[in-house]
Amino acid sequence: MLRIVKDKVKSLHQPSVEIALPLEARYKRILDAMLQYLKNSQNPEWRERHPRVREGVGLAAPQIGINKCMLAIYYEAGSEEKPKIVSYELVNPLIVEESIRLCYLQGGEGCLSVDDPHPGKVYRKNRIKVKAYEATLGKEVEIEAEGFDAVVLQHEIDHLHGVLFYDHIDKLDPDKTIVDAIAI
Ligand SMILES: [Zn+2]
Repeated sequence: MLRIVKDKVKSLHQPSVEIALPLEARYKRILDAMLQYLKNSQNPEWRERHPRVREGVGLAAPQIGINKCMLAIYYEAGSEEKPKIVSYELVNPLIVEESIRLCYLQGGEGCLSVDDPHPGKVYRKNRIKVKAYEATLGKEVEIEAEGFDAVVLQHEIDHLHGVLFYDHIDKLDPDKTIVDAIAI
């Protein structure tokens, strides 16, 4: 099973390096393992057997000790009538467009690498466009994301720059209000 690097470790605060394409098979295997880790973490029965594993929707390679630009995202969203599964294996993701409008998760953000509580608002761009190589599809993609989907992508891409969610929280005013920001 993958071992998660915690935020006491310096490499988590350092930038990752780009990966050469075409993607080597060993990186695809790592991405598959990361995606599977997320799926398992969302399975209550599996978690019961692995009580130290926390539920997660995204995992970036530096979180498993590999400072290379790749990340996995997996979660089920949408409504009961219209369920959607968000699943990505992204290599060298780059935010190419972003909205001025901000958003934040009302419950705050969490991270598999962060065990201590860090209350406060993490403001993100409400809409982004990301370019990346998608390893499941085996091609370059452009992803347009909004709201929660955009938050997750920004959180994971931040990891590739050595940035953690609490780095965004205002130290003097953690609950700072930004007018027009969308609460999610
Ligand atoms: Zn994280």
